[in-house]
Amino acid sequence: MTDIWTEALRGLQPRLGRETYDLWLRPLELVAADEARVRLRAPSQFMKEWFENHYLAAVLDEMRTRVEELPTIEIEVVVDAGTEAAPVQAAPAQAPPPASPSPAPAPAGLADRYRFDTFITGASNELAASAAAAVAEEPGQRFNPLLLYGGVGLGKTHLLHAVGHAIHENHPQLRVVYLSAERFMNEFISAVRYNQFDEFRQRYREDCDVLLIDDIQFIAGRDRTMDEFFHVFNALYEAGKQIMVTADRTPSDMQGMEERLTSRLNWGLVADVKAPDLETRVAILRQKAEQDRIAIPDDVCVHLATLVRSNVRELEGALVRVATFASLKGKPITEAFVREVLGETAEAERRNAPITVEAVQKAVAQYFSVRIADLKGQRRHKGIARPRMIAMYLSRELTGASFPEIGLRFGGKDHSTVINACRRMSSIQEDDPELRATIHQLRAQLIARP
Ligand code: ADP
Ligand code: MG
Repeated sequence: MTDIWTEALRGLQPRLGRETYDLWLRPLELVAADEARVRLRAPSQFMKEWFENHYLAAVLDEMRTRVEELPTIEIEVVVDAGTEAAPVQAAPAQAPPPASPSPAPAPAGLADRYRFDTFITGASNELAASAAAAVAEEPGQRFNPLLLYGGVGLGKTHLLHAVGHAIHENHPQLRVVYLSAERFMNEFISAVRYNQFDEFRQRYREDCDVLLIDDIQFIAGRDRTMDEFFHVFNALYEAGKQIMVTADRTPSDMQGMEERLTSRLNWGLVADVKAPDLETRVAILRQKAEQDRIAIPDDVCVHLATLVRSNVRELEGALVRVATFASLKGKPITEAFVREVLGETAEAERRNAPITVEAVQKAVAQYFSVRIADLKGQRRHKGIARPRMIAMYLSRELTGASFPEIGLRFGGKDHSTVINACRRMSSIQEDDPELRATIHQLRAQLIARP
């Protein structure tokens, strides 16, 4: 029999995807495993923490499906004697990194709040965030160049800054240069005009170990700037220096971008950032509310995250608007209040909205004469448990919501509860004509809603 760790990883791999798996789970070396304890070795403190913050919960969930009692997981950090910064004596596994005397100021242009620890990850941005973290960990080694692309307000700039901060902190000897592509163009034009081309070249080709450029699509169609960027790219790349850029689309979709640049931007890793799902939106709202000390109950957070789906910037804007009105009017933030403030937008989004989990809950509650609160509650009484499972099953079938999202909307239940409910309902239906008829009727009613 293989050990619990290896089994859990095997179970998890398809869900995480190959790249994430290779990036973050594979480097963890198994030292020993028994029922009570799994001991692992991580190649760095950073890898250890990243694993603990992002993947440990999933591994434990996976283990929970196999064993009654979870083992404790201990991770030690190997200190790599090969790196230049290695201490003379190996540090004990849990020792904190040595405090640097007086930290140099952060590279120019980086917003203090855009950091990895304020970035919420979910399925929509997992690959981008993992790749960014890998670049921050080992600049120039893993993905070079790294290009993140996606629609507005989805966190690309946030990740770019986070990489800048992290490299600055973990590799203080490296010179990080951050700027927007627009700024790059303006500086280039002015360098040419005022005969300061040598300084320009020095700054971006010589005095730079990590180049971070935001919104690279901006230079598409601007021939001389593209030409200059091409040379900067080559100089840095050949010197093994890290290049990371963001864009609003893939290189191949950038009209007017020179072919030789497009192909270079495709050399490393191109990762997309998508619109976040409900769970991630809720997590972002919670964090933002905490940061800004906004008192908003959890269910209102879920409600707000349901109303604003398009992007994170709008989501943050909506929260700030609601909080501002609430404090002006001296009212608490409730669902009704959120609807009042965001009324218009919300109404428009709802009109052409598909069937919602709420609509399913309402229909099921009516049909069985139970309260919606009971469907969301914990009671296991058959008269409630059965309708609850039916509601979960129909939510899954009709709304396109994910298992975790459905769990969230049923009073914060674990996604495994939802999966079990759906499985049971589909198997029981097979030899229970009455249940089949009930589900059929509810389905028809929901699809034909006015
Ligand atoms: P983009 O560059 O993709 O247009 P930004 O990075 O400027 O988007 O993000 C817009 C706002 O949303 C920023 O305030 C950013 O901090 C926030 N944001 C976006 N995604 C996340 C996330 N996953 N976690 C926390 N904040 C986020
Ligand atoms: Mg941006």
